[in-house]
Amino acid sequence: MKKILILTAGFGDGEDVAASNVRDAIEHLAHDKARVEILDLLDSCYGRFHDLLRHTVQAAANHAPKLWHGFYQLLGTAHFLEGQIDGLARLRNSLRDVLRGMEPDVVMVTCPIYSYLIDEIYRDGRTRDFTLISLVIDSVIKDLPWPRTSSDFFAVSNEDAGRALAAAGVAEEKIKVFGFPVQLSILPFTQLVREIASSDPARKNRPRILYLVNSARKKAPKLLDRLLEQSDWDITVCVGRDTGLDEMARAKAATAPERMKVIGHTRRMFQLLRDHHLVISRAETGIVHEAIAARCPMIVHRIGSGQEEGNFSILRQANAGVVAEKPREVVEWIERAFRDESRLLSLWRKNLEPLGRPDSALSMARFILECADAIALPVPQLRALPAVEQHPPIAPSRANGKSRLRPLAKKLLLCDLHTHTTWSDGKLSVSEIVDFYGQRGFDCLSITDHLCDPKRLLGKLVNLTGLVIPPGELAAYFEEIEYEKKRAWAKYDLLLMTGVEFNKDGYTPKTSTHLLGVDLKQPIDPSLDIKQLIAEIHAQGGLAVASHPHEIKSEWGKNTLYLWEHVEEYTPLIDAWEVANRDDIFNPVGLKKLPFIANSDFHKPKHIHSWKTVLYCEKEAEAIKHCIRVNRDVSLTLYRDHRFGLEDRHLQLPALEQAPSLVEFDQPRLAAKRG
Ligand code: ZN
Ligand code: ZN
Repeated sequence: MKKILILTAGFGDGEDVAASNVRDAIEHLAHDKARVEILDLLDSCYGRFHDLLRHTVQAAANHAPKLWHGFYQLLGTAHFLEGQIDGLARLRNSLRDVLRGMEPDVVMVTCPIYSYLIDEIYRDGRTRDFTLISLVIDSVIKDLPWPRTSSDFFAVSNEDAGRALAAAGVAEEKIKVFGFPVQLSILPFTQLVREIASSDPARKNRPRILYLVNSARKKAPKLLDRLLEQSDWDITVCVGRDTGLDEMARAKAATAPERMKVIGHTRRMFQLLRDHHLVISRAETGIVHEAIAARCPMIVHRIGSGQEEGNFSILRQANAGVVAEKPREVVEWIERAFRDESRLLSLWRKNLEPLGRPDSALSMARFILECADAIALPVPQLRALPAVEQHPPIAPSRANGKSRLRPLAKKLLLCDLHTHTTWSDGKLSVSEIVDFYGQRGFDCLSITDHLCDPKRLLGKLVNLTGLVIPPGELAAYFEEIEYEKKRAWAKYDLLLMTGVEFNKDGYTPKTSTHLLGVDLKQPIDPSLDIKQLIAEIHAQGGLAVASHPHEIKSEWGKNTLYLWEHVEEYTPLIDAWEVANRDDIFNPVGLKKLPFIANSDFHKPKHIHSWKTVLYCEKEAEAIKHCIRVNRDVSLTLYRDHRFGLEDRHLQLPALEQAPSLVEFDQPRLAAKRG
């Protein structure tokens, strides 16, 4: 499953439209292969500050492009604001958390703030392993900060924007002219549009005018009156989410209900445009591009900003629209357009034709999917499996005619107790991960998908992203792993355990905890507090493991330091601490005499190259957990596929009476821990 993240900013005009159109197109092309998330982090992070930010950003983008610079400098000093809950750092941190949690293959941004923040996040030299695409919907990009960001590609709306980027120093091969991603024309019409379109066949040949009252509401009543005076026009008025306008427009429409319809907010603007002869609107980015693609000429009743001037100039240059600010002028232009068998209207429509790219969203979606494929890590070629010898955990023996249980022999067991699947933010499904680990000869695998505390604000936020086990599907998660256990054992001799990573995220590392429950029998309420969670895990015979308890250095990401900050308090409760997680070894943790394990925190195939735990005990769940609790005959090993693969590890080591010397394994790579 490819993961595509689209970061949008709802305050911009057109960004949301573009984002959802791209998502629809990707889902249309590859709904079974790609998952698209659209996030507006500005909205999520700032709440009431969003408005303030909107004004800053809009002012910066529209009226005083130089302000961008100041805004960026402000963001650049965001680390000074760290810890201040409403500081801009919050946006950066949230973005970092989302990226780390989701591990997308492609990130598309519709607002340069995000590119800037992504650059910030990776400033320390860590490699970004997704393709970053900037979706530049603005027609005028002079003085906008796009060229300064380090996007891999710039998807632009028209040739002019492409040329401007090139002139600003962006390499030509990075610039892709797709056009504005307009809504797929293949999407089914909504009931609403169908009603408007098929109202009465006898009215089919009447002029159909769409009026978007998206601003300039003062002149709206007057313009509506003027439009109503024209008895042979049919008018659709779109008032968006403004209830005041809605009331006013409906009152007027009630005087001629067969000629005037009023609708609120709609996601089917493209269809509406296609179904009307003319649109009266502001020159907003989204509207202008969708009108072009729908071949619906525009009468622009207001040009708000530099950006809108740029949008309108596309229409003006093509001769496919006019500006008419006064209600009287608007009506005059409409009359002119339909005069002489709609000669002017036909000309405008013809002029729009070469500008429109109705398939822009589809071609953009195809490109995004190609990018997602290109960076996928190839799973290494697996060697043929040796015949699997069956190892039932407890072998009944019938010595002396009595049935009794024969203890299993101890052996070396390669274990990974911290892995993620598509149930949360992992790349492999449960059955895929079983095959992946099984084919590599692992002995014990615990699946521990993320589960968020719905009582915490961040938990609530993350529950919306689909990157954690959905609260209502916990039982299904348990069921699926339970089902796979039999196959894992029969096919690979792999002991599969059900686990959960309980995410208790606060706004700072010191208030954040990730706690693993390993070998659970049934779901646990994630909103319990940490001690209750541990007690619940223990009541089920499971292990409570502190995951990545110290600062992660190898990758940026959220640190979860709460348990370590309270180590004395939690030492008696925690069964084991991850002294190593993926590529990190936590030195300060290692200095304490605590029970340790090492896990990969596996999210995708390349994470197999990471720290692991090797136990020397019976291959049976209770024995494994006991071995970890007492933390004897436990070793940590750095697993490298090519040299520590199936054949090397399965040297058919005899069941040794004592734990083998670590030297027998892989001398230079091993860190030993016995205790
Ligand atoms: Zn974690
Ligand atoms: Zn994890």
